[in-house]
Amino acid sequence: MPEQLILRVAVPAPLHHSFDYLPPPDATPGQLIPGVRVRVPFGRSERCGVLLELATLADVDGRRLKPAYAVLDAVPLFAAADLALLRWAAGYYQHPLGEVIANALPVRLRKGEPPIPVLQKIWSVTALGARQDPAALRRAPKQAELLRLLLESRGGLVQEQIYQACGACRQALQALQAKGWVVAGERLPEAFTPPLPGQPAPPLNADQQGAVEAIDPGCFGAYLLDGVTGSGKTEVYLALVEKVLASGRQALVLVPEIGLTPQLIRRFERRLGMGLAVLHSGLAAGERESAWHLARLGHAAVVLGTRSALFVPLPALGLIVVDEEHDLSLKQQDGFRYSARDLAVIRAQRSDCPVILGSATPSLETLQNARGGRYRHLRLTRRAGAAMSARMDLLDIRSVRMEAGLSPVLVQQLRETLAEGNQALLFINRRGYAPILTCHACGWVAQCRRCDARMTLHAASRLLWCHHCGSQRRQDVQCPECGDADLRALGQGTERVEEVLAGYFPEAGIVRIDRDTTRRKGSLDRMLGEIRKGKHSLLLGTQMLAKGHHFPDVTLVGILDVDQGLFGADFRAAERMAQLIIQVAGRAGRAEKPGRVLIQTRHPDHPMMQLLVRRGYGAFAAEMLAERQAAAFPPFSYQALLRAEAPQEAAPREFLEQASDLAAALVQGRVELWGPVPAPMERRAGRFRAHLLLQADQRADLQRLLSIWVPQLGTLKSARRVRWSIDVDPQEMF
Ligand code: ADP
Ligand code: ZN
Ligand code: ZN
Repeated sequence: MPEQLILRVAVPAPLHHSFDYLPPPDATPGQLIPGVRVRVPFGRSERCGVLLELATLADVDGRRLKPAYAVLDAVPLFAAADLALLRWAAGYYQHPLGEVIANALPVRLRKGEPPIPVLQKIWSVTALGARQDPAALRRAPKQAELLRLLLESRGGLVQEQIYQACGACRQALQALQAKGWVVAGERLPEAFTPPLPGQPAPPLNADQQGAVEAIDPGCFGAYLLDGVTGSGKTEVYLALVEKVLASGRQALVLVPEIGLTPQLIRRFERRLGMGLAVLHSGLAAGERESAWHLARLGHAAVVLGTRSALFVPLPALGLIVVDEEHDLSLKQQDGFRYSARDLAVIRAQRSDCPVILGSATPSLETLQNARGGRYRHLRLTRRAGAAMSARMDLLDIRSVRMEAGLSPVLVQQLRETLAEGNQALLFINRRGYAPILTCHACGWVAQCRRCDARMTLHAASRLLWCHHCGSQRRQDVQCPECGDADLRALGQGTERVEEVLAGYFPEAGIVRIDRDTTRRKGSLDRMLGEIRKGKHSLLLGTQMLAKGHHFPDVTLVGILDVDQGLFGADFRAAERMAQLIIQVAGRAGRAEKPGRVLIQTRHPDHPMMQLLVRRGYGAFAAEMLAERQAAAFPPFSYQALLRAEAPQEAAPREFLEQASDLAAALVQGRVELWGPVPAPMERRAGRFRAHLLLQADQRADLQRLLSIWVPQLGTLKSARRVRWSIDVDPQEMF
């Protein structure tokens, strides 16, 4: 029997292997290149998969294989190196390869639709056409209309614009083309042409210069760029991007969701004098896919995006930047749970190019990598230009009478700041009006019916809202238990603080920035613009204010409540609290207006608080690392978390116990198993949740176990009654 050619295809399905098909009957060998999409039969339906490789038949009986239906792409969407990276990621994070690859495709392509053409078709009049009078085309009114439009347009019109203006006019256009009056050409989309000639960079200071020179653009190296907010990290990125572009290669810049603002995009475009391929989840599917193709085909030299941009195929990758590398949004927390930061290092290694991880508050993982010599630690010690760092103080709020979380000292400081004509920023880690609605008569508390959680009161919309599952109900006016009407809101969120501030400072412009006030597209950018123009003097908000933006006129920062961080159940709680404080503090101050930061706390003598405030994040992180080492927590060990949930209380536990037994039979002592235990919030969205933690001293031991164990989990009988997922290097324990 002659050797039979087989297609090995990654099909999106919750299975850990690829699938074999025969080539479609009408396919020519030239079409069968790894990286093209193929439509294949799958069970009783069909799916769109990606061709991984060609094989000749040995292991399966070819007569039992089905032929694929069709090859969907003329050229591969992924190069061999892209597929290799995706395979690596699927293996490391123990996620089905077909889903990992589907996750890396723009949505339309995932569904098997044809790629959007990257180049726009534009129509213009020829020299001959320019001499024609549309009025003479009396018997072909559509042609006359088109000709008039194109004559007026100067330089031509994009085909879609013409269709919009004239309705169905393809035939008329072709008739004009046949007469030689109009021609079609192609060009890159308008949004992608340079907005301005490049603007020169400021002369770099000695720290920045040192960092730029330390980074070898020609080969792999991982660098931690450690510098306070405003120390000029972005200028260092830009200098390196320019170097890399000059050598004809592409740069990939990853930022947290909240950091990807129009200002940042414009800053890059102006400096570099070119359009960027921008990729984030807020874009329409078409825009996103166009940017993806521009990057993949090498038209875009710079790609700026959030975590999923890490997977964009780039034929000439020469640099990866991960800004705010400590930020949690770089880790995907559902489905394919990957860390874009960690994968950026892997990708750079495989592409033999440098990767820069930048932060004012590096994660302990990254700091430890720098200490161990795997990453080079580059420091920017001062703020760029002449700005000074803000002074931090702890405000003791024990036995102080507070109003909506504001101490009298803080209110007084706000008053002085406003009187001096400056701006103040208040950070509070909770949106809504109040986290508790209770009955004064009987003690009833509004609970979520689907979660082990309280409902947050949103006063403006008169809703009780669960921030864990999203369920909402009308705010009660009477106690559902005893009927009493004396319901009280306890504690405060941004909404309530705003109300109280408006009472204290009726003259001041107050702006509140949280998820509720920024829901509408563009509203955040509008508010940030107003702040820069000085329209508001009191800025109030959640994390959204704490990250990414710089407010040079803010001279006072108040942090309302940080105490949960000191005693959080998660071993990362203190690290996150410190990062948040430093990030919020970094929003304030500039040369002539140094900033001041006041942190309200009931634990002003806590040694970690003291350390952070007196000696800064570096000293704090060193101490935290010592604690982690003593406790053998990451980054001194490696973890994976198996989560399970089900509507029945016992099901997750049963599954995890079976999973644990299975693992225990495989590990031979090198991987510890902790649990199963209920999740910190056991019931969420109507499901009971539990997890099993795996920890090992050596990454390789953990990986070896996972690679045998995870593929077997689906075969456990108890697996059918739960939803389960594996999280390698988990960042949160919920
Ligand atoms: P970071 O990314 O570390 O927060 P940026 O690169 O955004 O810092 O710089 C903060 C501010 O300082 C920006 O307004 C930037 O234009 C300015 N800046 C950065 N480097 C210099 C420099 N060498 N000279 C003058 N101004 C600079
Ligand atoms: Zn009551
Ligand atoms: Zn809920």
